[in-house]
Amino acid sequence: MKELEERIQKDGRVLGADVLKVDSFLNHQVDPALMQRMGQEFYQYFQNYPITKILTVESSGIAPAVMAGLAFQVPVVFARKHKSITMNNDLYVADVYSFTKKTSNKISISKKFLAADDHVLIIDDFLANGQAVAGLTDIIQQAGANLEGIGIVIEKSFQKGRKLIEEQQIPILSLARIKAFVDGQVVFETE
Ligand code: 5GP
Repeated sequence: MKELEERIQKDGRVLGADVLKVDSFLNHQVDPALMQRMGQEFYQYFQNYPITKILTVESSGIAPAVMAGLAFQVPVVFARKHKSITMNNDLYVADVYSFTKKTSNKISISKKFLAADDHVLIIDDFLANGQAVAGLTDIIQQAGANLEGIGIVIEKSFQKGRKLIEEQQIPILSLARIKAFVDGQVVFETE
């Protein structure tokens, strides 16, 4: 998505070797008009899939996920993050190692919001090593639901998440695909 790439070039900041900070439009302050256009991009790509639910993880996945939900006219469920969860039979729970925080968290979704007849589109803000997506996939399997596809706002293609998803042959659309960070500059994949 050209507009997103231009926005990343303009407002993104590369931190260290492998982190992109985009807190002026995605991770802290949110640009609603851009989010809406991203939701429409996800819809264009996945509109022929029988999506009944959008799944994401709090908090930065919520804005693009809601806009996708609006385009598909389906509910959006966000997994909650907890340090530890005491046994609760009403929840699906999975472990996720956080790339940015370097800690392991449990994510959970109430059983009442995901059922075996759901067809799910996962949306997230970033794809790095694929841990967040793997946790959501685990929960979808626990529910016996169907994973139809994955929509990512910013993919860092040089990390292993993309490969993991491709190996499982899950349809994926990333709106911006970063090939590398070179001298603090973002280099995008070209088609
Ligand atoms: P993964 O689970 O794919 O390793 O990492 C995905 C999660 O880590 C995303 O949901 C996002 O919150 C966070 N993340 C990973 N890489 C970056 C990054 O470069 N910048 C920001 N802001 N968040 C990131």
